Amino acid sequence: MSNKVNRAQQWRLFISNFIGFTIIFVLLGIIVFVLFRNAMLTSTDQALRVERSSRLNGGPLAKKTVVQGKQPGSRVPASKAIHPFMTTTLIFDDQGEIANRDQLGSRYETLRNITLDKSQVGQLHTIQVGGKYNFRTLLVKVPKRNSDRLVAGKYLLLMENIDPQKAAMSNFTRVLLITMGIFWLLSILMSIWMSRLTMRPILKSWGRQTEFVGNAAHELRTPLTIIQNKLELLLTKPNDKIIDQAENIAIANSESQRLQKLTQDLLALARSDSNTLQTNFERTPVASFLQQTVEPYTEIAASQGKNLVLAPVADFHATLDQNLVHQLLNILIDNALKYSPKDSTITLSAKVVGRKWQLVVADQGIGVNETEWKRIFDRFYRVDSSRSRQTGGNGLGLSIAHWIVNLHHGNIAVKANDPQGSRFITTLPLNPPVGLGGHREKQV
Ligand code: ADP
Repeated sequence: MSNKVNRAQQWRLFISNFIGFTIIFVLLGIIVFVLFRNAMLTSTDQALRVERSSRLNGGPLAKKTVVQGKQPGSRVPASKAIHPFMTTTLIFDDQGEIANRDQLGSRYETLRNITLDKSQVGQLHTIQVGGKYNFRTLLVKVPKRNSDRLVAGKYLLLMENIDPQKAAMSNFTRVLLITMGIFWLLSILMSIWMSRLTMRPILKSWGRQTEFVGNAAHELRTPLTIIQNKLELLLTKPNDKIIDQAENIAIANSESQRLQKLTQDLLALARSDSNTLQTNFERTPVASFLQQTVEPYTEIAASQGKNLVLAPVADFHATLDQNLVHQLLNILIDNALKYSPKDSTITLSAKVVGRKWQLVVADQGIGVNETEWKRIFDRFYRVDSSRSRQTGGNGLGLSIAHWIVNLHHGNIAVKANDPQGSRFITTLPLNPPVGLGGHREKQV
C-alpha cells in the first residue's frame, strides 16, 4: 500500500478510535456525576420527607429550627460558620406572608425574599438564598384540623441547607474533570497505538497480496509470450506444412497446458484466501481410497520408467474431503515423479498414529536441501527455477498442498529420504473439526 494511502487509513482509524474513547469518557463522566449528585441529595430529601410527616402529625416546630454556631457545645463561633443555619422552616399564611418572623430573628432579613408558590406543594426544589446559601426545600400545606394551632391551615416551607453537599459536589466535579482530562489525553496515545496495531495485519496481507499478484502476472506472462512468439513465427511461414512446424506447435501447446495448470492453481489459491471453498468432509476407508487414487499414477510412472508403489495400508477410516486429498496426492506424486530419475521408486504409505494418520510420499530423487525445507511451501518458491521450468513447475503446488492440509487441521513437512530423495510427511487428524472457519490460516 502506498505510504499516502497507508497514512490516510491510519489517520481515519485514529480519529474513529479517538471519537469512540471520547464518547465513552463523556458518557461515563455524565453518569458518575448524575449518580453522585443524586446520592448527595437523597439523604437531604429523606430528611425533608420525615420532617413533613412529623409536621403533619402535629410535631413541634421549635426544636427543628437550628442555628449553626449557636448550638450549645458548638466549637465553631457563629461569625466563622459556613452558613448561619442548617434547617429552617418558613411558615406562610394564606396571603403568602411569613408568619414566624419573630422566631426567625436575624435570619429573617436573609429569608424575607422567599415567596410562596402554592402550586409547588409537595415538590422538592433547590434554591439559593442571599446569593450564597443553598437549600433543598419542600413545601407542605398543613390541614386546618392539625393539632398544632401555630401551623394549622398554613403553608410550611421546610428548608435543609445543602452547602456542605454543594462544596463536596464542586470538589468532586473538579476531580472528575481533571481525571477525565488525563484519561482523555491518554486516549490519544491509546488511539495512535490501536490504529497502528490494526493497520499491521492489513499492511501485511496487502503486501502479500501485491507480491502474489506480481508473481502471478510474471508467471502468466512467460508462457503467453512464448505462445505469441510461436504463433507469430507460424504466420510468417504460411506455406509450411504442420509437420515442418511441429516443434513450434508442440512448444506452444505445452505452454498453453502450462498456462491452464497455472490458472487452475491460482484459482485454488485465490479460493483459499477468500475462504469461499465448499468442503465435503466424509468418513472414508483410507486403504481403498488410496488404492483408487494412486492407480492411475502407477501407469503414468511406468510410462516414465519409474515405479510407484503403494505399501500395504491397514484397514482404518478417516474423515476427509476426498477431492481435496486427491488433489494433495496429485501434487505430491506429481512432484515425486518430476524430481526423480528413471528406474527410481516412489513409495506411498499410510498408517494410524494415535488419533491421527500419517501419509508419506517418499522418492529417491534429487531431494530437498535442509535449508529449503520450510520455504518450498511458500507461494511461487522453487529451489531451482530453471529446472522447475523444464519440468513444468510454477512453485504453487506445495502451497496448495499446505493449504489443503491446513484445512484438515493437519500439518505437512519434508524430510530427507534414506539413502537419497525426499519424504513428504502429511499428518492429518482421523476426525478433524469440520468447517471452513475452523482451519488455521497461515501464509502458504
Ligand atoms: P513446482 O511446481 O515448482 O514443483 P512446488 O510448490 O510443487 O512447485 O514445489 C516447490 C519446489 O519444491 C520445487 O520447485 C522443487 O524445487 C521442490 N520440490 C518439491 N517436491 C520435490 C521433490 N519430491 N523432490 C525434490 N524437490 C522437490
